[in-house]
Amino acid sequence: MAMKSKVLIVGGTGYLGKRLVKASLAQGHETYVLHREEIGVDIEKVQMLLSFKQQGAHLVIGSFNDHQSLVKVVKLVDVVICAISGVHIRSHQILLQLKLVDAIKEAGNVKRFLPSEFGTDPARMENAMEPGRVTFDDKMVVRRAIEEAGIPFTYISANCFAGYFLGGLCQPGFILPSREQVRFLGDGNQKAIYVDEDDIATYSIKTIVDPRTLNKTVYIRPPQNILSQREVVQIWEKLIGKELLKSSISEQEFLAIMKEQDYAEQVGLTHYYHVCYEGCLANFEIGDGAEEASKLYPEVKYTTVEEYMTRYL
Ligand code: NDP
Repeated sequence: MAMKSKVLIVGGTGYLGKRLVKASLAQGHETYVLHREEIGVDIEKVQMLLSFKQQGAHLVIGSFNDHQSLVKVVKLVDVVICAISGVHIRSHQILLQLKLVDAIKEAGNVKRFLPSEFGTDPARMENAMEPGRVTFDDKMVVRRAIEEAGIPFTYISANCFAGYFLGGLCQPGFILPSREQVRFLGDGNQKAIYVDEDDIATYSIKTIVDPRTLNKTVYIRPPQNILSQREVVQIWEKLIGKELLKSSISEQEFLAIMKEQDYAEQVGLTHYYHVCYEGCLANFEIGDGAEEASKLYPEVKYTTVEEYMTRYL
């Protein structure tokens, strides 16, 4: 029988966080969810927390403004997973995690910490463009704090959340696929990797009790989901039984339009640039000191791009 752990999820009401709570419960871990007092009368969040409790999770009160409250909740568990926000068009709070790192350091009992990463590996983005590089820089600041404190970790590089990238046929600013037209970013041939957010959560929870993932980066690369924008569009066209009207946006045009947007939009567009024009997710081999999730956990039946896209029919 697989080992069970006591797991604290911070940011459990978030887009990814709620899936981590679900996956942790599904894999039989004793699951604690941080209930931050600051959420006040946010009825949706409170109702979500209550539904976690009904499903067997423990709600624990704590605040990023109260160090001792964080230490107290961290002491209850063996594993901490943080899914605090890190998308500028929603909210970006990555550096707040430094407070959580301090609490984990003081508590001294945590056997594994998964910080809020779940995207492009920030260690590979030293030359990323402004202003989007802030995401990678901040995640690296958190990594350094974790490693300096000697906290055991796993970093999850989850590649593209399917909801954003497949939903919009890899076009920034769209999260529902058109049945009429699509604009390729450049030639549309750079490969990227798309992962169902529920699968990201399942794989992430699998790593927490796995000695093979200790102090390593785990990339999630489901082999059938390594596709170019053109290939994603072909899958969609097959599903709807119709060809889309196609155009493309050159790199220069994309960068010029980007400069006219507000800061939060520019951050997101920078990320699309690195993924879709440079192919930053799939243009390297996974080296020593890192692992790939679908190889580690072949028992997980991941959602293919085609299966994922049927939800939009
Ligand atoms: P959300 O924007 O959904 O936020 C998650 C949680 O952050 C919230 O539920 C909240 O937790 C917490 N939070 C927000 N503001 C504060 C604050 N001021 N103080 C404390 N906590 C706060 O996050 P996502 O799920 O979108 O992002 C999670 C991670 O996934 C990030 O690292 C992000 O970069 C990454 N990501 C990757 C993508 C990809 O394509 N690879 C796409 C999107 C995100 P609560 O209120 O519950 O305490």
